Amino acid sequence: MSERERRRRARELARLMAELDEADRRNGLGAWPTPAPQKRRPTGRRTTWVISMVVTAMVLSIVVALHPGSQASAIRRLLGFGPERILAAPELPSGDGSHAFVMTQRDGTTPVGYDPCRTIEIEINPDNAPDDHRDLVETAMRHTSGATGLDLRITGTTDDRPAQRSRVSGRAPVLVAFANEDEWPALEGDVAGVAGSAMMESPSGRRFFVTGSVVLDADLFTDEDVPDASLQAIMDHEFGHLVGLDHVEDPNELMYDENVGLTSYGPGDLRGLAEIGRLPCE
Ligand SMILES: [Zn+2]
Repeated sequence: MSERERRRRARELARLMAELDEADRRNGLGAWPTPAPQKRRPTGRRTTWVISMVVTAMVLSIVVALHPGSQASAIRRLLGFGPERILAAPELPSGDGSHAFVMTQRDGTTPVGYDPCRTIEIEINPDNAPDDHRDLVETAMRHTSGATGLDLRITGTTDDRPAQRSRVSGRAPVLVAFANEDEWPALEGDVAGVAGSAMMESPSGRRFFVTGSVVLDADLFTDEDVPDASLQAIMDHEFGHLVGLDHVEDPNELMYDENVGLTSYGPGDLRGLAEIGRLPCE
């Protein structure tokens, strides 16, 4: 096939894809029905939060599996015509260290992460937040984006509280909010923040995150005796959870479950973040 002919076919295929995308939108793929609110509020620490998100995800995966409108991406994959990453995939760091993933694909080893071909939109609720909260969030985004090649972007502010967002289904912006333990019991005791993402499964069985939340302890973050570096480390740690890292039993990593003075991602954290960031597009 001549170069010219090849280009013509590529254009034709791109047009077809655009139409299929449009069909997806008309079929309401961007607005899945809302599942019933969960009756139980989270009462434990992060584990409970993750479980409640997984429950949401299971409901949604059924909806997605039954939904007929999501053929466009499957067709793209079949044709080897995948959507393009927004940012370049990171190199895999060779350093040692420990990392763990919050969730894996059905093979039990490949992590679940966000789609690198989509922007992860973030909305901040500034209520109860420290004055410099936007700096903290933007810095954590920069560190996490740098390690994963995921495109994280603040798209605005919101009045939504975490409880409202934990019932949101489908693709919604990630919520960053500041709360106390009366409002968000997962922050009970000395928990400085909780974060997690909701998973969906595509008809092909691939799992991916579509939305999530980062909830920080408002009392801690507005305590002027706490150094900025510690708050930044907590924010970075929570963003690690958001994109799919779990805790490790290694005090040399930021994903150690206690803050022991580390202020940036360790070698294992960076390796795990790169693996998450190198996942193929949806
Ligand atoms: Zn943690």
